[in-house]
Amino acid sequence: MLWSGWGDPGRATGLAPDVLELLAEALGVTPPTGEPAGFGDVRLPEADLSPFVLASLRSIVGAESVRTDADARIRHTRGKSTPDLLRMRMGDGSDAPDAVVLPGSHHEVSEVLRVCSAERVAVVPFGGGTSVVGGVTPLREGFAGVVALDVRRLDRLVSVDEESMLAELQPGLRGPQAEELLNARGLTLGHFPQSWEYATLGGFAAARSSGQASAGYGRFDDMVEGLTVATPVGDWELGRAPRSAAGPDLRHVVLGSEGAFGVITSMRLRVRRLPARRNWDAWRFPSFAAGRDAMRVLAQERRLPAVLRLSDETETMIGGGSGCLMVVGWEGGEPPTFADAGHLGPEPAERWAEGRFGGPYLRDALIAAGATVETLETAAHWSGLPRLYEAVRLALEAALGRVIVMCHVSHLYETGASLYFTVVTAAGDDPLARWEAAKAKASEAIGLAGGTISHHHGVGRDHRAAYAAEIGPVGVGVMRAIKKSLDPMGILNPGVLVP
Ligand SMILES: Cc1cc2nc3c(=O)[nH]c(=O)nc-3n(C[C@H](O)[C@H](O)[C@H](O)COP(=O)(O)OP(=O)(O)OC[C@H]3O[C@@H](n4cnc5c(N)ncnc54)[C@H](O)[C@@H]3O)c2cc1C
Repeated sequence: MLWSGWGDPGRATGLAPDVLELLAEALGVTPPTGEPAGFGDVRLPEADLSPFVLASLRSIVGAESVRTDADARIRHTRGKSTPDLLRMRMGDGSDAPDAVVLPGSHHEVSEVLRVCSAERVAVVPFGGGTSVVGGVTPLREGFAGVVALDVRRLDRLVSVDEESMLAELQPGLRGPQAEELLNARGLTLGHFPQSWEYATLGGFAAARSSGQASAGYGRFDDMVEGLTVATPVGDWELGRAPRSAAGPDLRHVVLGSEGAFGVITSMRLRVRRLPARRNWDAWRFPSFAAGRDAMRVLAQERRLPAVLRLSDETETMIGGGSGCLMVVGWEGGEPPTFADAGHLGPEPAERWAEGRFGGPYLRDALIAAGATVETLETAAHWSGLPRLYEAVRLALEAALGRVIVMCHVSHLYETGASLYFTVVTAAGDDPLARWEAAKAKASEAIGLAGGTISHHHGVGRDHRAAYAAEIGPVGVGVMRAIKKSLDPMGILNPGVLVP
Protein backbone atom coordinates (compact mmCIF):
# COMPACT_ATOMS: atom_id res chain seq x y z
CA MET A 1 0.00 0.00 0.00
CA LEU A 2 1.36 3.41 -1.01
CA TRP A 3 2.22 5.22 2.26
CA SER A 4 0.85 8.63 1.21
CA GLY A 5 -1.90 7.53 -1.16
CA TRP A 6 -3.86 4.52 -2.27
CA GLY A 7 -2.93 1.01 -3.25
CA ASP A 8 -0.33 -0.35 -5.59
CA PRO A 9 2.06 2.41 -6.76
CA GLY A 10 2.27 0.56 -10.09
CA ARG A 11 -1.40 1.32 -10.71
CA ALA A 12 -1.07 5.06 -10.06
CA THR A 13 -2.77 7.10 -12.76
CA GLY A 14 -2.58 10.65 -14.08
CA LEU A 15 -5.21 13.02 -15.46
CA ALA A 16 -5.73 13.72 -19.16
CA PRO A 17 -4.97 17.32 -20.29
CA ASP A 18 -8.67 17.99 -21.04
CA VAL A 19 -9.62 16.95 -17.48
CA LEU A 20 -6.98 19.28 -16.05
CA GLU A 21 -8.34 22.08 -18.23
CA LEU A 22 -11.88 21.37 -17.06
CA LEU A 23 -10.79 21.41 -13.40
CA ALA A 24 -9.09 24.77 -13.91
CA GLU A 25 -12.07 26.28 -15.73
CA ALA A 26 -14.93 24.88 -13.67
CA LEU A 27 -13.37 24.88 -10.21
CA GLY A 28 -10.35 27.19 -10.38
CA VAL A 29 -7.95 24.31 -9.65
CA THR A 30 -4.31 25.38 -9.94
CA PRO A 31 -1.29 23.08 -9.65
CA PRO A 32 0.18 22.91 -6.13
CA THR A 33 3.24 25.10 -5.61
CA GLY A 34 5.49 22.70 -3.67
CA GLU A 35 6.39 19.04 -4.04
CA PRO A 36 4.83 16.49 -1.64
CA ALA A 37 7.12 15.11 1.08
CA GLY A 38 9.15 12.04 0.19
CA PHE A 39 9.24 8.95 2.41
CA GLY A 40 12.53 10.06 3.95
CA ASP A 41 11.13 13.51 4.79
CA VAL A 42 8.37 12.25 7.10
CA ARG A 43 8.85 13.69 10.59
CA LEU A 44 8.31 10.95 13.18
CA PRO A 45 8.01 11.50 16.92
CA GLU A 46 10.75 9.98 19.07
CA ALA A 47 9.76 6.34 19.77
CA ASP A 48 8.74 6.25 23.39
CA LEU A 49 8.28 2.67 24.62
CA SER A 50 10.22 1.59 27.69
CA PRO A 51 12.80 -1.19 27.25
CA PHE A 52 10.66 -3.30 29.60
CA VAL A 53 7.55 -2.97 27.40
CA LEU A 54 9.54 -3.70 24.25
CA ALA A 55 11.15 -6.76 25.82
CA SER A 56 7.77 -8.01 27.05
CA LEU A 57 6.17 -7.58 23.63
CA ARG A 58 9.10 -9.35 21.98
CA SER A 59 8.80 -12.25 24.36
CA ILE A 60 5.11 -12.62 23.46
CA VAL A 61 5.16 -12.35 19.67
CA GLY A 62 8.83 -12.90 18.80
CA ALA A 63 11.45 -10.21 18.16
CA GLU A 64 10.80 -10.15 14.39
CA SER A 65 7.13 -9.32 15.00
CA VAL A 66 7.80 -6.14 16.97
CA ARG A 67 8.76 -3.47 14.47
CA THR A 68 10.12 -0.08 15.47
CA ASP A 69 11.64 0.89 12.11
CA ALA A 70 10.52 4.04 10.28
CA ASP A 71 8.95 2.05 7.44
CA ALA A 72 6.57 0.15 9.71
CA ARG A 73 5.76 3.21 11.81
CA ILE A 74 5.00 5.41 8.79
CA ARG A 75 2.75 2.76 7.24
CA HIS A 76 0.68 2.58 10.44
CA THR A 77 0.45 6.32 11.04
CA ARG A 78 -3.08 7.02 9.81
CA GLY A 79 -5.94 5.76 7.72
CA LYS A 80 -6.83 6.78 4.18
CA SER A 81 -9.19 9.73 4.37
CA THR A 82 -8.23 12.73 2.25
CA PRO A 83 -7.11 14.69 5.37
CA ASP A 84 -4.96 11.65 6.31
CA LEU A 85 -3.33 11.68 2.87
CA LEU A 86 -2.83 15.46 2.94
CA ARG A 87 -1.04 15.21 6.29
CA MET A 88 1.21 12.43 5.01
CA ARG A 89 1.98 14.44 1.87
CA MET A 90 3.07 17.29 4.20
CA GLY A 91 5.52 14.91 5.92
CA ASP A 92 3.52 15.00 9.15
CA GLY A 93 4.17 11.68 10.91
CA SER A 94 3.10 12.94 14.34
CA ASP A 95 0.44 10.23 14.75
CA ALA A 96 2.89 7.36 14.16
CA PRO A 97 2.82 4.54 16.72
CA ASP A 98 5.99 3.86 18.68
CA ALA A 99 5.97 0.25 17.54
CA VAL A 100 4.00 -2.14 15.36
CA VAL A 101 3.22 -5.49 16.93
CA LEU A 102 2.17 -8.46 14.78
CA PRO A 103 0.66 -11.23 16.92
CA GLY A 104 0.21 -14.66 15.36
CA SER A 105 -2.57 -16.09 17.53
CA HIS A 106 -5.50 -15.19 19.75
CA HIS A 107 -3.37 -16.01 22.78
CA GLU A 108 -0.66 -13.59 21.68
CA VAL A 109 -3.25 -10.84 21.18
CA SER A 110 -4.57 -11.43 24.73
CA GLU A 111 -1.04 -11.31 26.15
CA VAL A 112 -0.25 -8.06 24.32
CA LEU A 113 -3.41 -6.52 25.80
CA ARG A 114 -2.45 -7.76 29.26
CA VAL A 115 1.01 -6.18 29.14
CA CYS A 116 -0.22 -2.95 27.58
CA SER A 117 -3.01 -2.60 30.17
CA ALA A 118 -0.55 -3.10 33.01
CA GLU A 119 1.91 -0.61 31.50
CA ARG A 120 -0.70 1.88 30.26
CA VAL A 121 0.37 1.62 26.64
CA ALA A 122 -2.32 2.53 24.08
CA VAL A 123 -3.16 -0.18 21.52
CA VAL A 124 -4.57 0.49 18.07
CA PRO A 125 -6.14 -2.61 16.49
CA PHE A 126 -5.02 -2.31 12.86
CA GLY A 127 -6.44 -4.18 9.87
CA GLY A 128 -5.91 -2.73 6.42
CA GLY A 129 -5.61 0.82 7.72
CA THR A 130 -8.23 2.03 5.24
CA SER A 131 -10.35 3.85 7.82
CA VAL A 132 -11.60 7.19 6.53
CA VAL A 133 -12.81 8.53 9.88
CA GLY A 134 -9.61 8.65 11.93
CA GLY A 135 -10.24 5.13 13.24
CA VAL A 136 -6.55 4.22 13.58
CA THR A 137 -5.37 7.58 14.91
CA PRO A 138 -5.78 7.48 18.69
CA LEU A 139 -5.06 10.19 21.23
CA ARG A 140 -1.73 9.48 22.89
CA GLU A 141 -1.87 11.92 25.81
CA GLY A 142 -1.68 10.18 29.18
CA PHE A 143 -0.23 6.93 27.79
CA ALA A 144 3.25 5.48 28.06
CA GLY A 145 3.37 5.00 24.30
CA VAL A 146 1.23 3.70 21.44
CA VAL A 147 1.47 0.38 19.62
CA ALA A 148 -0.34 -0.55 16.44
CA LEU A 149 -1.58 -4.13 16.79
CA ASP A 150 -1.57 -5.30 13.18
CA VAL A 151 -3.59 -8.50 12.72
CA ARG A 152 -2.19 -9.43 9.29
CA ARG A 153 -0.71 -12.71 10.57
CA LEU A 154 -4.19 -13.90 11.60
CA ASP A 155 -5.05 -14.80 8.04
CA ARG A 156 -6.50 -18.30 7.97
CA LEU A 157 -9.72 -19.87 6.85
CA VAL A 158 -10.13 -21.97 9.99
CA SER A 159 -13.09 -24.18 9.04
CA VAL A 160 -16.18 -24.44 6.88
CA ASP A 161 -19.56 -25.83 7.95
CA GLU A 162 -21.19 -26.39 4.57
CA GLU A 163 -24.36 -27.73 6.12
CA SER A 164 -24.97 -24.47 7.99
CA MET A 165 -23.21 -22.38 5.30
CA LEU A 166 -20.83 -20.89 7.84
CA ALA A 167 -17.10 -20.26 7.59
CA GLU A 168 -14.75 -19.41 10.41
CA LEU A 169 -12.24 -16.86 9.20
CA GLN A 170 -9.53 -14.81 10.87
CA PRO A 171 -9.62 -11.01 10.91
CA GLY A 172 -6.37 -10.25 9.07
CA LEU A 173 -7.59 -11.66 5.75
CA ARG A 174 -7.98 -8.96 3.13
CA GLY A 175 -11.00 -9.00 0.84
CA PRO A 176 -9.35 -10.80 -2.11
CA GLN A 177 -7.57 -13.35 0.15
CA ALA A 178 -10.83 -14.27 1.85
CA GLU A 179 -12.68 -14.60 -1.48
CA GLU A 180 -9.90 -16.75 -2.94
CA LEU A 181 -10.03 -19.17 -0.02
CA LEU A 182 -13.82 -19.37 -0.14
CA ASN A 183 -14.11 -19.45 -3.93
CA ALA A 184 -11.85 -22.53 -3.96
CA ARG A 185 -14.71 -24.30 -2.14
CA GLY A 186 -17.42 -22.83 -4.36
CA LEU A 187 -18.39 -20.24 -1.72
CA THR A 188 -18.41 -16.44 -1.48
CA LEU A 189 -18.96 -13.76 1.14
CA GLY A 190 -20.29 -11.33 -1.47
CA HIS A 191 -18.75 -8.38 0.38
CA PHE A 192 -17.10 -5.95 -2.04
CA PRO A 193 -16.60 -2.43 -0.63
CA GLN A 194 -14.53 -0.06 -2.76
CA SER A 195 -11.63 -0.63 -0.33
CA TRP A 196 -11.96 -4.43 -0.80
CA GLU A 197 -8.45 -4.96 -2.19
CA TYR A 198 -6.79 -3.71 1.01
CA ALA A 199 -9.32 -3.75 3.87
CA THR A 200 -9.60 -6.76 6.19
CA LEU A 201 -12.44 -8.89 7.55
CA GLY A 202 -11.74 -7.62 11.08
CA GLY A 203 -11.98 -4.04 9.87
CA PHE A 204 -15.25 -4.81 8.06
CA ALA A 205 -16.77 -6.09 11.30
CA ALA A 206 -15.24 -3.44 13.56
CA ALA A 207 -16.44 -0.59 11.32
CA ARG A 208 -19.73 -2.17 10.16
CA SER A 209 -18.80 -2.00 6.53
CA SER A 210 -21.23 -2.19 3.62
CA GLY A 211 -20.18 -3.56 0.23
CA GLN A 212 -21.30 -2.76 -3.29
CA ALA A 213 -23.42 -5.92 -3.38
CA SER A 214 -25.19 -5.07 -0.13
CA ALA A 215 -28.60 -5.04 -1.84
CA GLY A 216 -28.38 -8.81 -2.32
CA TYR A 217 -25.86 -9.94 0.29
CA GLY A 218 -26.52 -7.50 3.11
CA ARG A 219 -24.07 -5.44 5.12
CA PHE A 220 -21.04 -7.10 6.70
CA ASP A 221 -22.69 -7.05 10.12
CA ASP A 222 -25.55 -9.13 8.62
CA MET A 223 -22.99 -11.83 7.78
CA VAL A 224 -21.46 -12.15 11.25
CA GLU A 225 -22.92 -15.10 13.14
CA GLY A 226 -20.27 -15.31 15.82
CA LEU A 227 -17.11 -13.62 17.06
CA THR A 228 -14.10 -14.35 19.24
CA VAL A 229 -12.77 -11.24 20.90
CA ALA A 230 -9.72 -10.63 23.09
CA THR A 231 -10.39 -7.87 25.61
CA PRO A 232 -8.19 -6.50 28.39
CA VAL A 233 -10.49 -8.23 30.91
CA GLY A 234 -10.58 -11.62 29.20
CA ASP A 235 -11.77 -13.57 26.18
CA TRP A 236 -15.29 -13.19 24.84
CA GLU A 237 -17.18 -15.69 22.64
CA LEU A 238 -20.32 -14.39 21.00
CA GLY A 239 -23.04 -15.98 18.89
CA ARG A 240 -23.98 -19.66 19.16
CA ALA A 241 -27.25 -19.86 17.20
CA PRO A 242 -28.72 -18.15 14.13
CA ARG A 243 -31.06 -16.09 16.32
CA SER A 244 -31.52 -16.00 20.06
CA ALA A 245 -33.87 -14.51 22.61
CA ALA A 246 -31.27 -14.83 25.36
CA GLY A 247 -31.12 -11.15 26.20
CA PRO A 248 -29.87 -8.33 23.98
CA ASP A 249 -27.67 -9.36 21.04
CA LEU A 250 -24.21 -8.59 22.43
CA ARG A 251 -22.56 -9.26 19.08
CA HIS A 252 -23.68 -5.73 18.30
CA VAL A 253 -21.51 -4.41 21.10
CA VAL A 254 -18.53 -5.66 19.11
CA LEU A 255 -19.80 -4.95 15.58
CA GLY A 256 -18.99 -1.28 15.09
CA SER A 257 -16.76 -1.15 18.18
CA GLU A 258 -13.84 0.20 16.09
CA GLY A 259 -11.12 -1.37 18.19
CA ALA A 260 -12.24 0.45 21.34
CA PHE A 261 -13.68 -2.58 23.20
CA GLY A 262 -11.47 -5.49 22.14
CA VAL A 263 -9.63 -7.15 19.28
CA ILE A 264 -11.64 -9.48 17.03
CA THR A 265 -9.49 -12.56 16.51
CA SER A 266 -11.94 -14.83 14.69
CA MET A 267 -15.38 -14.70 13.09
CA ARG A 268 -18.04 -17.17 12.04
CA LEU A 269 -19.45 -15.69 8.86
CA ARG A 270 -22.46 -16.64 6.77
CA VAL A 271 -21.36 -17.66 3.28
CA ARG A 272 -23.27 -18.21 0.05
CA ARG A 273 -22.72 -20.45 -2.98
CA LEU A 274 -20.54 -18.78 -5.59
CA PRO A 275 -22.90 -17.82 -8.42
CA ALA A 276 -22.27 -19.36 -11.84
CA ARG A 277 -22.19 -15.87 -13.34
CA ARG A 278 -22.36 -12.27 -12.23
CA ASN A 279 -24.44 -10.38 -14.81
CA TRP A 280 -24.79 -6.65 -15.44
CA ASP A 281 -27.46 -4.36 -16.78
CA ALA A 282 -28.03 -0.58 -16.83
CA TRP A 283 -30.91 1.87 -17.05
CA ARG A 284 -31.29 5.62 -17.47
CA PHE A 285 -33.86 7.30 -15.20
CA PRO A 286 -35.23 10.77 -15.98
CA SER A 287 -34.46 12.02 -12.46
CA PHE A 288 -32.83 11.00 -9.18
CA ALA A 289 -36.25 11.02 -7.50
CA ALA A 290 -37.72 8.67 -10.15
CA GLY A 291 -34.79 6.27 -9.76
CA ARG A 292 -35.05 6.31 -5.97
CA ASP A 293 -38.75 5.50 -6.19
CA ALA A 294 -38.00 2.52 -8.41
CA MET A 295 -35.38 1.32 -5.91
CA ARG A 296 -37.79 1.68 -3.02
CA VAL A 297 -40.41 -0.42 -4.77
CA LEU A 298 -37.90 -3.20 -5.44
CA ALA A 299 -36.72 -3.15 -1.82
CA GLN A 300 -40.26 -3.17 -0.44
CA GLU A 301 -41.35 -5.95 -2.79
CA ARG A 302 -38.20 -7.86 -1.78
CA ARG A 303 -36.99 -8.17 -5.35
CA LEU A 304 -33.50 -6.74 -4.92
CA PRO A 305 -30.69 -7.96 -7.18
CA ALA A 306 -27.15 -8.33 -5.78
CA VAL A 307 -26.05 -4.83 -6.82
CA LEU A 308 -28.34 -1.84 -7.28
CA ARG A 309 -26.79 1.57 -7.61
CA LEU A 310 -28.26 4.86 -8.76
CA SER A 311 -26.19 7.96 -9.58
CA ASP A 312 -27.69 11.43 -9.43
CA GLU A 313 -27.62 13.75 -12.45
CA THR A 314 -24.19 15.22 -11.57
CA GLU A 315 -22.48 11.86 -10.98
CA THR A 316 -24.02 10.52 -14.21
CA MET A 317 -22.85 13.58 -16.16
CA ILE A 318 -19.28 13.31 -14.77
CA GLY A 319 -19.31 9.69 -15.96
CA GLY A 320 -20.23 10.89 -19.46
CA GLY A 321 -23.96 10.12 -19.43
CA SER A 322 -27.24 11.95 -19.06
CA GLY A 323 -30.21 11.52 -16.73
CA CYS A 324 -29.51 9.21 -13.80
CA LEU A 325 -27.61 5.97 -14.36
CA MET A 326 -28.77 2.85 -12.56
CA VAL A 327 -26.37 -0.10 -12.41
CA VAL A 328 -27.89 -3.53 -11.79
CA GLY A 329 -25.79 -6.58 -10.92
CA TRP A 330 -27.75 -9.84 -10.85
CA GLU A 331 -26.72 -13.40 -10.27
CA GLY A 332 -29.69 -15.60 -11.01
CA GLY A 333 -33.30 -15.52 -12.18
CA GLU A 334 -34.41 -12.46 -14.11
CA PRO A 335 -33.06 -8.92 -13.61
CA PRO A 336 -35.54 -6.19 -12.70
CA THR A 337 -37.02 -4.10 -15.52
CA PHE A 338 -38.39 -0.54 -15.31
CA ALA A 339 -41.28 0.82 -17.43
CA ASP A 340 -40.34 4.48 -16.93
CA ALA A 341 -36.60 4.28 -17.59
CA GLY A 342 -34.48 3.84 -20.71
CA HIS A 343 -32.74 0.48 -21.04
CA LEU A 344 -29.04 0.89 -21.73
CA GLY A 345 -28.03 -2.78 -21.76
CA PRO A 346 -25.04 -4.25 -19.91
CA GLU A 347 -22.20 -2.07 -21.27
CA PRO A 348 -22.34 0.95 -18.88
CA ALA A 349 -22.71 -1.40 -15.91
CA GLU A 350 -19.86 -3.64 -17.07
CA ARG A 351 -17.69 -0.54 -17.45
CA TRP A 352 -18.60 0.54 -13.92
CA ALA A 353 -17.87 -2.95 -12.55
CA GLU A 354 -14.50 -3.06 -14.29
CA GLY A 355 -13.39 0.30 -12.93
CA ARG A 356 -14.97 0.07 -9.50
CA PHE A 357 -11.77 -0.42 -7.51
CA GLY A 358 -9.94 2.27 -9.49
CA GLY A 359 -11.64 5.34 -7.94
CA PRO A 360 -9.14 5.76 -5.09
CA TYR A 361 -6.26 5.99 -7.59
CA LEU A 362 -8.07 8.85 -9.27
CA ARG A 363 -8.29 10.64 -5.92
CA ASP A 364 -4.47 10.60 -5.69
CA ALA A 365 -4.20 12.04 -9.20
CA LEU A 366 -6.70 14.80 -8.38
CA ILE A 367 -4.87 15.72 -5.15
CA ALA A 368 -1.58 15.84 -7.07
CA ALA A 369 -3.25 18.19 -9.57
CA GLY A 370 -4.30 20.66 -6.87
CA ALA A 371 -7.87 19.51 -6.23
CA THR A 372 -9.43 18.20 -3.03
CA VAL A 373 -11.66 15.18 -3.44
CA GLU A 374 -13.38 13.46 -0.55
CA THR A 375 -16.49 11.42 0.15
CA LEU A 376 -19.06 11.39 2.92
CA GLU A 377 -22.10 9.28 3.52
CA THR A 378 -25.27 9.11 5.56
CA ALA A 379 -28.64 7.32 5.57
CA ALA A 380 -32.27 8.02 6.35
CA HIS A 381 -35.73 6.61 5.81
CA TRP A 382 -37.19 6.95 2.32
CA SER A 383 -39.50 9.79 3.34
CA GLY A 384 -36.55 11.80 4.68
CA LEU A 385 -34.10 11.18 1.82
CA PRO A 386 -35.04 14.10 -0.48
CA ARG A 387 -34.58 16.64 2.33
CA LEU A 388 -31.31 15.04 3.45
CA TYR A 389 -29.97 15.03 -0.12
CA GLU A 390 -30.72 18.74 -0.62
CA ALA A 391 -29.44 19.73 2.83
CA VAL A 392 -26.02 18.11 2.37
CA ARG A 393 -25.58 19.47 -1.15
CA LEU A 394 -26.52 22.98 -0.12
CA ALA A 395 -24.22 22.90 2.93
CA LEU A 396 -21.25 21.77 0.82
CA GLU A 397 -21.96 24.33 -1.89
CA ALA A 398 -22.29 27.13 0.65
CA ALA A 399 -19.05 26.13 2.38
CA LEU A 400 -16.92 25.52 -0.71
CA GLY A 401 -18.26 27.84 -3.43
CA ARG A 402 -17.00 26.37 -6.70
CA VAL A 403 -17.52 22.68 -6.11
CA ILE A 404 -18.84 19.54 -7.75
CA VAL A 405 -21.08 17.56 -5.39
CA MET A 406 -22.24 14.23 -6.74
CA CYS A 407 -24.23 11.52 -5.06
CA HIS A 408 -25.37 7.93 -5.42
CA VAL A 409 -27.55 5.42 -3.63
CA SER A 410 -26.07 1.93 -3.39
CA HIS A 411 -27.19 0.52 -0.03
CA LEU A 412 -30.94 0.22 0.37
CA TYR A 413 -33.48 -1.36 2.65
CA GLU A 414 -37.25 -1.70 2.84
CA THR A 415 -37.46 1.44 4.95
CA GLY A 416 -34.71 3.67 3.56
CA ALA A 417 -31.29 4.01 1.97
CA SER A 418 -27.88 5.58 2.27
CA LEU A 419 -26.64 8.58 0.30
CA TYR A 420 -22.98 8.63 -0.70
CA PHE A 421 -21.55 12.00 -1.72
CA THR A 422 -18.32 12.68 -3.61
CA VAL A 423 -17.01 16.24 -3.45
CA VAL A 424 -14.43 17.81 -5.80
CA THR A 425 -13.14 21.33 -5.28
CA ALA A 426 -9.94 23.38 -5.57
CA ALA A 427 -7.45 22.64 -2.78
CA GLY A 428 -6.81 26.34 -2.12
CA ASP A 429 -4.02 27.63 0.16
CA ASP A 430 -4.96 25.44 3.11
CA PRO A 431 -6.77 22.34 1.80
CA LEU A 432 -7.04 20.72 5.22
CA ALA A 433 -8.73 23.68 6.91
CA ARG A 434 -10.94 24.25 3.86
CA TRP A 435 -12.16 20.66 3.80
CA GLU A 436 -12.57 20.35 7.57
CA ALA A 437 -14.76 23.48 7.68
CA ALA A 438 -16.93 22.13 4.85
CA LYS A 439 -17.17 18.68 6.45
CA ALA A 440 -18.31 20.28 9.72
CA LYS A 441 -21.08 22.10 7.87
CA ALA A 442 -22.13 18.93 6.04
CA SER A 443 -22.19 16.97 9.33
CA GLU A 444 -24.33 19.66 10.92
CA ALA A 445 -26.72 19.56 7.94
CA ILE A 446 -26.96 15.76 8.23
CA GLY A 447 -27.92 16.04 11.89
CA LEU A 448 -30.50 18.75 11.26
CA ALA A 449 -32.05 16.82 8.38
CA GLY A 450 -32.43 13.70 10.51
CA GLY A 451 -29.75 11.54 8.87
CA THR A 452 -27.19 9.37 10.64
CA ILE A 453 -23.61 10.61 10.80
CA SER A 454 -22.47 7.39 9.14
CA HIS A 455 -24.09 4.54 7.26
CA HIS A 456 -20.87 2.54 6.85
CA HIS A 457 -17.64 4.51 7.40
CA GLY A 458 -18.03 4.57 11.17
CA VAL A 459 -17.31 7.10 13.89
CA GLY A 460 -13.55 7.09 14.50
CA ARG A 461 -12.13 10.34 15.81
CA ASP A 462 -13.78 12.46 13.13
CA HIS A 463 -17.45 11.81 13.91
CA ARG A 464 -17.29 11.55 17.67
CA ALA A 465 -19.10 14.79 18.47
CA ALA A 466 -21.84 14.15 15.92
CA TYR A 467 -22.18 10.59 17.19
CA ALA A 468 -22.61 11.84 20.76
CA ALA A 469 -25.39 14.15 19.57
CA GLU A 470 -27.01 11.28 17.66
CA ILE A 471 -27.13 8.81 20.57
CA GLY A 472 -27.86 11.43 23.25
CA PRO A 473 -26.64 11.57 26.86
CA VAL A 474 -28.12 8.19 27.80
CA GLY A 475 -26.40 6.54 24.85
CA VAL A 476 -23.11 8.25 25.72
CA GLY A 477 -23.39 6.91 29.27
CA VAL A 478 -23.99 3.38 27.97
CA MET A 479 -20.98 3.56 25.65
CA ARG A 480 -18.73 4.82 28.45
CA ALA A 481 -19.94 2.08 30.79
CA ILE A 482 -19.21 -0.62 28.19
CA LYS A 483 -15.76 0.85 27.63
CA LYS A 484 -15.04 0.91 31.34
CA SER A 485 -16.19 -2.66 31.75
CA LEU A 486 -14.18 -4.17 28.86
CA ASP A 487 -11.17 -1.85 28.89
CA PRO A 488 -10.81 -0.42 32.41
CA MET A 489 -7.44 1.23 31.71
CA GLY A 490 -8.79 2.79 28.52
CA ILE A 491 -5.85 1.56 26.43
CA LEU A 492 -7.81 0.45 23.36
CA ASN A 493 -7.90 3.10 20.65
CA PRO A 494 -8.25 6.06 23.06
CA GLY A 495 -10.23 8.92 21.59
CA VAL A 496 -11.87 6.73 18.94
CA LEU A 497 -15.64 6.06 18.92
CA VAL A 498 -16.51 6.51 22.61
CA PRO A 499 -17.61 10.10 23.27
C1 LIG B 1 -10.91 4.35 -1.00
C2 LIG B 1 -11.78 3.83 0.09
C3 LIG B 1 -12.99 3.23 -0.22
C4 LIG B 1 -13.81 2.74 0.80
N1 LIG B 1 -14.97 2.12 0.45
C5 LIG B 1 -15.76 1.61 1.42
C6 LIG B 1 -16.97 0.94 1.08
O1 LIG B 1 -17.32 0.79 -0.08
N2 LIG B 1 -17.72 0.45 2.10
C7 LIG B 1 -17.33 0.56 3.40
O2 LIG B 1 -18.04 0.09 4.27
N3 LIG B 1 -16.20 1.21 3.73
C8 LIG B 1 -15.40 1.72 2.79
N4 LIG B 1 -14.24 2.35 3.14
C9 LIG B 1 -13.86 2.48 4.55
C10 LIG B 1 -12.99 1.33 5.10
O3 LIG B 1 -12.40 0.62 4.07
C11 LIG B 1 -13.83 0.40 5.93
O4 LIG B 1 -14.18 1.07 7.12
C12 LIG B 1 -13.17 -0.94 6.31
O5 LIG B 1 -14.12 -1.70 7.01
C13 LIG B 1 -11.94 -0.78 7.14
O6 LIG B 1 -11.25 -2.01 7.16
P1 LIG B 1 -9.70 -2.07 7.51
O7 LIG B 1 -9.30 -3.49 7.56
O8 LIG B 1 -8.91 -1.21 6.61
O9 LIG B 1 -9.72 -1.48 8.97
P2 LIG B 1 -8.79 -0.40 9.65
O10 LIG B 1 -8.82 0.88 8.90
O11 LIG B 1 -7.46 -1.00 9.91
O12 LIG B 1 -9.57 -0.23 11.01
C14 LIG B 1 -10.87 0.32 11.04
C15 LIG B 1 -11.35 0.34 12.50
O13 LIG B 1 -11.54 -0.98 12.95
C16 LIG B 1 -10.65 -1.30 14.01
N5 LIG B 1 -10.18 -2.67 13.77
C17 LIG B 1 -9.52 -3.15 12.69
N6 LIG B 1 -9.31 -4.46 12.83
C18 LIG B 1 -9.84 -4.84 14.02
C19 LIG B 1 -9.94 -6.06 14.74
N7 LIG B 1 -9.46 -7.21 14.26
N8 LIG B 1 -10.56 -6.05 15.94
C20 LIG B 1 -11.07 -4.92 16.47
N9 LIG B 1 -11.00 -3.73 15.83
C21 LIG B 1 -10.39 -3.69 14.62
C22 LIG B 1 -9.56 -0.25 13.97
O14 LIG B 1 -9.00 -0.01 15.25
C23 LIG B 1 -10.31 0.96 13.44
O15 LIG B 1 -10.99 1.64 14.45
C24 LIG B 1 -13.40 2.87 2.14
C25 LIG B 1 -12.18 3.45 2.44
C26 LIG B 1 -11.37 3.93 1.43
C27 LIG B 1 -10.05 4.53 1.77
